[in-house]
Amino acid sequence: MATALSLSDAVNRVEPSATIAVTTKAAELRSAGVDVIGLGAGEPDFDTPDHIKEAAIQAIRDGKTKYPPADGLPDLKEAISAKFQRDNELSYTTDQVHVAPGGKPVIYNAFVATLNPGDEVIIPAPYWVSYPAMAALCGGRPVPVACGANSQYKLTPDALEAAITPRTKWLILNSPSNPTGAAYTAAELKGLADVLLRHPQVWILTDDMYEHLVYDGFTYTTIAQAEPALYDRTLTMNGVSKAYAMTGWRIGYAAGPAELIKTMRKVISQTTSNPCSISQYAAIAALNGPHDFLEDRNAVFKTRRDMVVAELNKAEGLSCDTPEGAFYVYPSCAGAIGKTTPSGQKIENDSDFARELLETEAVAVVMGAAFGLSPAFRVSYATSTEALSDAMLRIQRFCASLS
Ligand code: GLU
Repeated sequence: MATALSLSDAVNRVEPSATIAVTTKAAELRSAGVDVIGLGAGEPDFDTPDHIKEAAIQAIRDGKTKYPPADGLPDLKEAISAKFQRDNELSYTTDQVHVAPGGKPVIYNAFVATLNPGDEVIIPAPYWVSYPAMAALCGGRPVPVACGANSQYKLTPDALEAAITPRTKWLILNSPSNPTGAAYTAAELKGLADVLLRHPQVWILTDDMYEHLVYDGFTYTTIAQAEPALYDRTLTMNGVSKAYAMTGWRIGYAAGPAELIKTMRKVISQTTSNPCSISQYAAIAALNGPHDFLEDRNAVFKTRRDMVVAELNKAEGLSCDTPEGAFYVYPSCAGAIGKTTPSGQKIENDSDFARELLETEAVAVVMGAAFGLSPAFRVSYATSTEALSDAMLRIQRFCASLS
C-alpha cells in the first residue's frame, strides 16, 4: 500500500487560485454545451497584434530556439529599460531588469529572494488572489488592509501607517487594481510615499500590469516616479499580458535595485532556466513596436465599462462604482445577502451569490471572498459587448428573482 502523501506546510497555507478555478469551470461548462457567459477570466478578448505574432514566427524561422540567458535576452532588457524611461520617467540599466514567464513568477522570485518566516507583506484588500498566496508560500505573513468603497478601494496614508510594523518587509501596490479597477493619482501615491519615507525597512512591489488600460484621460503614475526617493527600494513590475493581449505567451518583467535583481536571477536560474525564447522575441516587438492600437481597444473597454456599471446599478441589491482602469468592476452585493433564490437556496455570502448566479443564469463571476473584501464580486468586462449585455440582463433577472 502506498504511503499517504504528506504535504508541505507552505502549500497547506494556500488555496488554489479562484480566478483560474472560475475560468476553468466556465470553460468546462461551455464544452459541456451550457450557454455560459464567462466574466471570470482576467484576459483581453482581443487577439495579439499581428506585428507581434510575426516577430515570434520570424524568431522560430531564425532558429532562436535555444536556451537564452536565465532572466531575459539582452535585447528584451534594453526594450524594457526604454519602456520604463518612455512611459514612467524611470532609468534602469539592464542589470536592474528581470524577465520571467509572467507576472506571477516575477513576484514569486522576489518573495523567495527576500522573505523570511514571519516577514510581513502589506496587501491592500481587495487584492489580486495570488499576492497573499505567494507571500504565504514563501514563508511570509500576508497582512491584508481593508480598503473599501469609502476610500475608492484605495489604501490611505493613515491605513498604511497603522499597518506597518518592524516586521514589514513589503507593501504591494496594484494600480489600476485587479479586482476593482481603481487607480492611484500621483498625489495619492505621494501621500503613501510620505508614510513610506518614515519607514525605511519597507520595500515596495508595485504591480503595474494594467498601466495602459486607463480611461477618461486618467494620467498614469507609478510610485518610484511619484517619489524618486523610493527608487532604491521599489520593484516596479509589469508585463505584456494585458496591454498587448499576450496572456498565453507568459512574459512578465520588473526593474529595481541591482542587488535584488541579481538575487532573483539566482532563483530563476535554479527553478525555471529562462522564459520562452520565442515569447521574448514577441515581447521585444510589443514593447518597441507601435502602440496606436491601444487607443482603439481602450475606447471599446471604456464603452463596455460604462455599460456594465450602469446595468449593474439597475440590478436589485447591487451597487457599483466607476473605476479608472483595468477591465474589472467590483460591485457590492450587500443588498442580496440574506435573500433566498426561487429554489430555496439562502444567499449567506458572496460565494453563495456567485455559485447561484452560475447555477441559475450561467454567468461566471469571481466571488469577493477570494479577493479579501466582501460582500462583492468581480466582473471582467474583457469579453464581447454582446455577451456582456446578455450577462447584465441575466444578472438583473437573477437579482430580481431573490426574495
Ligand atoms: N490575472 C488574471 C485574473 O486575475 C489571470 C488569472 C490569474 O493569473 O489570476 O483573472
